[in-house]
Amino acid sequence: AVWAQILDKMKEQLAPTAFNWLNPVQPLSLTDDTLELGTQNEMSKEWIAGHYQTFIEDAVKAVLGGPKVVQLTVMAEASTAGQEDAPVVVEAKNEKPAQGTLFPEGGAEAHAEVVAEPHIVAPGDNSSLNPKYTFDTFVTGKSNNFAHAAAMAVADKPGKTYNPFFMYGGVGLGKTHLMHAIGNRVLKNHPEMRVLYVSSEQFTNEIIQAIQQGTSDKFRQKYRNIDVLLIDDIQFISGKTSTQEEFFHTFNTLYDAQKQVILSSDRPPREVERLEERLRSRFEWGLTTDIQAPDLETRIAILKNKAQSDHFSVPDDVMVYIASRIDSNIRELEGALTRVVAYASLTKRTVNTDLVAEALKDIFPNGKAKEVTMDIIQEIVASYFKIKIEDLHSKKRTRNIAYPRQIAMYLCRDLTETSLPQIGQFFGGRDHTTVIHAYDKINQDKETDNRLKGILNELIDRIQKV
Ligand code: ADP
Ligand code: MG
Repeated sequence: AVWAQILDKMKEQLAPTAFNWLNPVQPLSLTDDTLELGTQNEMSKEWIAGHYQTFIEDAVKAVLGGPKVVQLTVMAEASTAGQEDAPVVVEAKNEKPAQGTLFPEGGAEAHAEVVAEPHIVAPGDNSSLNPKYTFDTFVTGKSNNFAHAAAMAVADKPGKTYNPFFMYGGVGLGKTHLMHAIGNRVLKNHPEMRVLYVSSEQFTNEIIQAIQQGTSDKFRQKYRNIDVLLIDDIQFISGKTSTQEEFFHTFNTLYDAQKQVILSSDRPPREVERLEERLRSRFEWGLTTDIQAPDLETRIAILKNKAQSDHFSVPDDVMVYIASRIDSNIRELEGALTRVVAYASLTKRTVNTDLVAEALKDIFPNGKAKEVTMDIIQEIVASYFKIKIEDLHSKKRTRNIAYPRQIAMYLCRDLTETSLPQIGQFFGGRDHTTVIHAYDKINQDKETDNRLKGILNELIDRIQKV
């Protein structure tokens, strides 16, 4: 555990956020003069080389008593996935990697043999929960409010409210996050409870192993002795007959004992193919809820949250810019922000929209500016005047709100093809005459008011850069 000691040493000198980068690093080999470390992808390699190389070398010197060259290597993806045990897989896998589009270079080709301890940080319990995924770090909005509320209810009274609790939604929308959040909350409130999180793949593998090795009793003992069982991406048991058979019994045992079962899937039970009817109907016994793709406001909130927790300082318009272009997958959204910050730091430039366009040119579809929408206008106006988007929809009539609202309406009329009644509707259900009045007023004022003219130009500029 030399590497653990080195990490400890560095903890004294580095900010906690540095460990977001350093924790996934794995020691690969140690010779007389070189310590080889594996990183997850090219970007983290560059980042670590640029920021922490000398810290690592100093710490190595302190721990090992002599100077060493620290050499960074990008590891193959599989060796960093953190598999607890990788038993034989007999049934066909149909899982596509959920990640990887954002960082195409992410350790795809480079290979390095792992020689040192693969698991340096041992988990504190055996629930397999990720402590980072909590309700506190989960941003809510229209798209996930319901799932979030239901998840909280389940976490507060496991086995007593919705059983099973079935969440579904597209890739990167927060299902796994919510599952861990439930588990973490249960354990916080009831440390004595047995909580187990597994991917459906791991669950399948364990069943197959149990069958092959004749250890079904052990398997049953493990899975039927649980208070809260969370199985992620249950759609992958599709077509796997023996897994479904075994899970049916596990489910019944837990359910009859009023133990909580929580499942996630990329689609509702009805749409999971080759799933036994008796399982499908059981999945629907409790509560089924979906998570939708987040709206712009929520995406911005997620970015702000991430920037804050990672201590990134990123201007608002940059967040709007990123959030308005990556509109489905939250993992990619967060990845984009990380990439932008890393890019700025590596090139020693400030974070602005030009830099973002450059840093993310691979992931923005053909670099084309998106159509201006009322969402974008509202967001930019609200952030410019430091008010909330809700204020633009509200009935408030104080000047610090009514004026930005009129400006936003004016811009919607000027920059989009939307009709007057639609604009009125979008601004908290106002009448189209209100929109006309706002438009005329701003249009007139700007002829004499240079300050207003400047503000409008600035806003239009920001909107068109999005
Ligand atoms: P899924 O399981 O639905 O594919 P994840 O739960 O893995 O998605 O989410 C992908 C990433 O996005 C994770 O890093 C997660 O923390 C983050 N994320 C998703 N939804 C939210 C949210 N509402 N607030 C904050 N972070 C989120
Ligand atoms: Mg997931």
